Amino acid sequence: MTDLKSISMRMSWPGSDYKVKVKTCDNEFKRSHIINGTKLNLVHLRLKLSLLGVAIKHYNRPMDWIKALRDLIRLRRKFLGNHRLRKMVYAGGKYYMGLYTPGWNSSVYKNFIAAQLNDFKEIKSKTNRFNNVFIAITKKCALQCDHCYEWENLNKKDVLSTKEIKQIIEKLQFYGVGQFQFSGGEPLLRIDTLEEVVALASKKTDCWIATSGFKFTNENAKRLKKSGLTGIIISLDHFIPEKHNAFRHFKDAYYWVEQAICNAHDQNLVVALSVCVTREFVSHDNLMSYMHLAKKFNIAFVQFLEPKPIGHYKNMNVTLDQEHLQILEKFFLKMNFDSEFETFPIITYHGYYQRRQGCYSAGIKGFYVDTDGDINACPFCNKKSGNVLDVCFEDHITTLQRIGCNNYN
Ligand code: SF4
Repeated sequence: MTDLKSISMRMSWPGSDYKVKVKTCDNEFKRSHIINGTKLNLVHLRLKLSLLGVAIKHYNRPMDWIKALRDLIRLRRKFLGNHRLRKMVYAGGKYYMGLYTPGWNSSVYKNFIAAQLNDFKEIKSKTNRFNNVFIAITKKCALQCDHCYEWENLNKKDVLSTKEIKQIIEKLQFYGVGQFQFSGGEPLLRIDTLEEVVALASKKTDCWIATSGFKFTNENAKRLKKSGLTGIIISLDHFIPEKHNAFRHFKDAYYWVEQAICNAHDQNLVVALSVCVTREFVSHDNLMSYMHLAKKFNIAFVQFLEPKPIGHYKNMNVTLDQEHLQILEKFFLKMNFDSEFETFPIITYHGYYQRRQGCYSAGIKGFYVDTDGDINACPFCNKKSGNVLDVCFEDHITTLQRIGCNNYN
């Protein structure tokens, strides 16, 4: 078991001043870290040269190389506006700009870039059809979270065998996928399957797990790292342990978050946190306290997930108001692009991108495979559009695209 040390941490912001105990482990600061300043500029320059290399590889005309690079810059601006890059994450020997982008400079990253270039101008070799696919591998879970989107399916009998999940992986990799995120239920409750599936998938695709942290023991972390796991997204919904445990209706939920963070660092995985930004939670002070805790934990990315009235939240008034969205968007920009916060984790906020750019899931660049093997627009838009293993999978994807995203089209 990883050695955890308790340290006291004072959270002090206008309107809030309290102490929480944070557990931290010896290994965490040695490996993954945020880069900024001169180091960032050097890595970014090398990254841009490698983009040029990908363009040169796929196009013959120098004019296309320049236009391709311009198109990549235009794409980034569409999502993030005209903000200067302030930080990247170094972990496991690679550099990460975003939670959903493969690490630079792997072959998976180059394939990912080639797929974006293919949208600009068709390239001759086969490219990835999808950037990101979520696959839920089990209905089992020990927690009972307030916002669970799989609530209706939780703890029913699993439908997909390990063999079928592997068939899904092979089928999707035939089309090409940049990143798989394995979820559930709690994916760690099916560790043998998870290990096999990651070992198969990680040869061509970055593999992540989305977990509550439950059972992400040192032993399981080692097994998954050995299989080729890239990173772990751990749900943490409050910086105060008791509030996180209450949200998750599980008295040891926060304990497992701490364990998972330390065990993931120990295996040199990319470590991200995911927070459901509820109406009650959204305030500048709460967000700032959360980010301070995340920084203390040496987290690479923090993902903001807006609550949706589905699953356990079905028919409930959980949708954020304009006022909440303004706080979140302002905070997201400040944290990611103000020089003052260069050493803090990078925030991923889908709502921000999707309100500007539309949804890239729903069969366009990704989708969600639920625990029955059925495809859905994303984990939060769960209208089934046929089974991923069906012969007419491509028709299902077309249907998914036609139906589109419930929220951002
Ligand atoms: S949200 Fe995840 S961890 Fe929580 S009950 Fe649902 S499946 Fe389990």
